[in-house]
Amino acid sequence: GGFESLNLSPNVFKAIKRKGYKVPTPIQRKTMPLILSGNDVVAMARTGSGKTAAFLIPMLERLKEHVPQGGVRALILSPTRDLALQTLKFTTELAQFMDLRISLLVGGDSMETQFEELAQNPDIIIATPGRLIHHLTEIDEMSLRSVEYVVFDEADCLFGMGFAEQLHKILAQLSDNRQTLLFSATLPSALAEFAKAGLQDPRLVRL
Ligand code: AMP
Repeated sequence: GGFESLNLSPNVFKAIKRKGYKVPTPIQRKTMPLILSGNDVVAMARTGSGKTAAFLIPMLERLKEHVPQGGVRALILSPTRDLALQTLKFTTELAQFMDLRISLLVGGDSMETQFEELAQNPDIIIATPGRLIHHLTEIDEMSLRSVEYVVFDEADCLFGMGFAEQLHKILAQLSDNRQTLLFSATLPSALAEFAKAGLQDPRLVRL
C-alpha cells in the first residue's frame, strides 16, 4: 500500500518523494485508488489528514501535461482565499516536474491580473466561488464545459459560508462527463443533498 503500488507517472512520483512523503496517509490510501480509477468520491477528511494531496496527486496523474487550446481541465473550489493560496503552493510543488498552467482566482486580487492569467489558457483553476462566478459573468467566452476534474474542498465550510447558491450555479455550468470529488470534515444534510445533485454514484470514504 505504498505510493509505488499506485503506478504513478515518474514526474508525479518524483515530486512526492521530493516532498519527503514515505507512505500515503490513511485518507490517501483509501481515496487515491478510487479516484485514480475514475470514481466520484465523497471523503470525510479534516485538515491535517493529508486530504489535499489525496485529490492533487490523482488530478496531476490525469492531466499529465499542458494541452494548448485545451480549456480549463481541473477546477478546485476553496472556501477561503487562504486555503486557495495554500492549495496553489502545494499544487505548484507537486507539479514541479510537469508542464501545467495554474490560475488562482480569489477575491482581493486584481481582476485584471486574473484576466491575463485566464488568457494564458490554464489547465487548472483554483478558486473561491464568488470570484469564479464574477469571472464567468464578466467574460462572455469563459466556459467550464471542458472541466473534467472538480474538487469541492472543505465543502462543509463552502456551505457554512453561504456559497450554496453559487455552488449550484457552478455545477450547472459543468459538463456531465466530469469526475467530481467532495472533501469535507462533516456531512450535514444540505451538503448530502448537494452531493446527490452534483456527484454520480459517489463512493463514500470515511476513516
Ligand atoms: P492537509 O490535510 O492536506 O492539509 O495536509 C496536512 C499536512 O500533511 C501537509 O503539511 C502535507 O504536506 C502533509 N502530508 C500530506 N501527505 C503526506 C504523506 N503521505 N506523508 C507525510 N506528510 C504528508
